[in-house]
Amino acid sequence: MTTTITETYGVDPTPTPLALLLLGREADPNSERGVECPGDLPPASDPNLVERARAAKATLGDRVFILGHHYQRDEVIEFADVTGDSFKLARDAAARPEAEYIVFCGVHFMAESADILTTAAQQVILPDLAAGCSMADMATAEQVAECWDALADAGIADVTVPVSYMNSSADIKAFTGRHGGTICTSSNAKRALEWAFEQGEKVLFLPDQHLGRNTAVRDMGLSLDDCVVYNPHKPNGGLTAEQLRDAKMILWRGHCSVHGRFSLDSVNDVRARIPGVNVLVHPECKHEVVAAADMVGSTEYIIKALDAAEPGSKWAIGTELNLVRRLAKAHPDKEIVFLDRAVCFCSTMNRIDLPHLVWALESLVEGRVPNVITVDPETEKHAKAALDRMLALP
Ligand code: SF4
Repeated sequence: MTTTITETYGVDPTPTPLALLLLGREADPNSERGVECPGDLPPASDPNLVERARAAKATLGDRVFILGHHYQRDEVIEFADVTGDSFKLARDAAARPEAEYIVFCGVHFMAESADILTTAAQQVILPDLAAGCSMADMATAEQVAECWDALADAGIADVTVPVSYMNSSADIKAFTGRHGGTICTSSNAKRALEWAFEQGEKVLFLPDQHLGRNTAVRDMGLSLDDCVVYNPHKPNGGLTAEQLRDAKMILWRGHCSVHGRFSLDSVNDVRARIPGVNVLVHPECKHEVVAAADMVGSTEYIIKALDAAEPGSKWAIGTELNLVRRLAKAHPDKEIVFLDRAVCFCSTMNRIDLPHLVWALESLVEGRVPNVITVDPETEKHAKAALDRMLALP
């Protein structure tokens, strides 16, 4: 029997475009960044949106390349030339130097990475500048500089190697590059940590504490006691110099506001409801959730695991809801449910909707290049050094 998410939870998980559009139409412009859309943002009720997107894309031809992150809405994914996680998309963009415009259907830090990895002649466009990432925003350049000072005061900065998750701003990637560190993704975090511990004695892991802790404890055999959490909102991160010196993993106090909400209760609950279910979660989930799961991996890993799964097998997936819904549709021969009814879509990923995509494409057709994401040359140089270290990982 195949159970849809709607049947399982009795709710329709279809996103509510009205509320998101109200945000994007400057209902509260002072609390948001970059919500203006010069020209006309088409209403979500326009029955010709699909036709308009098709026509604009066809007019632009090879001049435009549309990237769609796995967590994007179906209506947007339909127009993506490629889909993938943030790093795969940035690499795909770099492999298309003939495309003048890279329309990045994802969030801000991903568009920055694409700008770093593409040529100077290419322009990266984010259809809605308000599509940020709460996790990336949890580590600012000033906060991280203060943290490094605290490590220096504790006498450990010169034996600490920064490792920053791809889900970080270009500034944080540049900090990482300047201090001899590397970037990692959720697919290669273990290799990145192994490399870092060959370079130094300690790792400063930014900005996702859960990915850092899960990788260190689950994959590398470190203990929870080897990890401390640096809270940027407290003096000295809320840690004594001795605690910093004793730690092997200094975890930044950041998290994903979607994955961080899955709970141990939801794992226990789904096991009770669906005997024999396989619980498969993303490593951005809390450690207790990851420890209770059957399998853990990146979005690409989750997709491959379900492709390889036996017909009739049962799965509870702990990652973003847009992706889980698509996977449930793509595998009608398997029972696929969303792990936790209290968790919803990534609201910033959902900012990119069909009206914004149509607006961006039609602007390009009219000769206006909207919402260009540009990383300054100095930041780009150091961020690229950190990204290149990742690419060179064994
Ligand atoms: S799912 Fe989490 S990490 Fe990804 S963009 Fe949304 S808030 Fe950021």
